[in-house]
Amino acid sequence: MSHATSRLDAVVIGAGAAGIAAALSLRAAGLDILVLEARDRLGGRAHTDACGTPYALDLGCEWLHSADDNVLARLAPERGFSLDKTDPPWSRRPLRCGLGEAEAARFEVDQAAFWERLERAGAEAQRSGRDHPASDCFDRQARGNGLIDAISTYYNGAPWSRVSAIDFDRYVDTGVNWRVRGGYGAMIAALGGDLPVRFGCHVGRLDLGGRDVRIDTAQGSFEAGRAIITVPTSVLASGAIRFDAACDDHLHAATYLPLGVANKLFLRLDEAEAFPPDTRLSGSIDQRDIGTYTLRSGGRALIEGYFGGDYARHLEEGGLAAFVDAARREIAEAFGSDLSTKLTPVVATGWASDPLSLGSYSHALPGHADARCVLAEPVDSRLWFAGEATSARLFSTAPGAGEEGARAGVQLTEAVRQQISLRRA
Ligand SMILES: Cc1cc2nc3c(=O)[nH]c(=O)nc-3n(C[C@H](O)[C@H](O)[C@H](O)COP(=O)(O)OP(=O)(O)OC[C@H]3O[C@@H](n4cnc5c(N)ncnc54)[C@H](O)[C@@H]3O)c2cc1C
Repeated sequence: MSHATSRLDAVVIGAGAAGIAAALSLRAAGLDILVLEARDRLGGRAHTDACGTPYALDLGCEWLHSADDNVLARLAPERGFSLDKTDPPWSRRPLRCGLGEAEAARFEVDQAAFWERLERAGAEAQRSGRDHPASDCFDRQARGNGLIDAISTYYNGAPWSRVSAIDFDRYVDTGVNWRVRGGYGAMIAALGGDLPVRFGCHVGRLDLGGRDVRIDTAQGSFEAGRAIITVPTSVLASGAIRFDAACDDHLHAATYLPLGVANKLFLRLDEAEAFPPDTRLSGSIDQRDIGTYTLRSGGRALIEGYFGGDYARHLEEGGLAAFVDAARREIAEAFGSDLSTKLTPVVATGWASDPLSLGSYSHALPGHADARCVLAEPVDSRLWFAGEATSARLFSTAPGAGEEGARAGVQLTEAVRQQISLRRA
């Protein structure tokens, strides 16, 4: 196929939070740019869809973490999105089915002790430079290790044994969490609404061999002075995009930053008023393979289920029916089977099998926290990798992706300016 446009200053690959932020930064600098996106929509892992309900359901990111220090929380009102500042469900004590008061209290103590050990171990590992799996912080005698590991699958998409203690320690969290009324995904898409984007444009190859960067896509080839690539690390590591050898170190770093899996299930709940808004339900403390549920999530007549790690991957293979069976079983253990008759399946996500994400959010494997910095290094002043996975302090989040996209945009613009002043000199 022939070249689709004239030479561009820069191409941005991927129109998620990182790609949108990169493109906004480049456009503000006056560069001639184009965004290439394989999907038919903006947002990537930020995606709001009503799915036939009266609600804006966030199928990917939903929470403005560290909301008091979150660039997207500042931008939302400017784009006409109001913020819901109600405390998140996980800030309240969950209903723990099948557990007596004493046992539930014991679990809270064991859990707090785990977080304390992890914090101390992470700081010590940073000081000594000796990383280890976060699972080293388990008290092997504690009964609730199953649920503590399940919590890692919600946070990291993977169990603590696959999570670097140093990386986890670097994550910054102010503890303030808000929601976006109208949807986090819708808000991020609105930020990129007037950017020049080619949709359905799957990039298959990047070639840095010539003077320009050549990008081969399903819609032809593009040439640009420079490029920013924001596709998820699991996609990079899968080999779905061919790069020339100059990128070997970066692709290698991506293999140490795999996307864990987290999936959501939304169920309509009849007679929802029987429960207070944002009632959290957390089941057995012995199992890692277990979902966590929010009844009347955001005050809506819904139950939102959240599943992580291999359990989420396994349920995804069985489709919506597998998620619904698991939820009915786990919810029935808490409230009896009566509640089952009040539930209607709406949607379950499938982030692991989505070929354009291959997972939900990144974690660093033990020993590889610095892979994020390696991936963030420019290649030959012509190619930048950016996305949530290149953020050392806000990895796995949408603002982390946005900050990294903007960082790559600024660095690319600076490289263009330097080249121009060299030519003039
Ligand atoms: C279930 C779930 C819950 C989450 N919850 C939260 C939360 O509460 N708060 C939070 O801050 N974050 C959350 N996240 C994480 C957050 O959504 C991501 O970290 C962020 O959106 C990633 O943005 P990105 O731009 O780095 O990547 P992406 O959004 O994945 O963007 C990359 C883009 O590249 C495109 N692409 C891929 N391959 C190609 C190709 N070959 N050619 C062209 N385009 C390609 C993709 O289609 C995609 O649009 C959640 C994610 C999931 C899945």
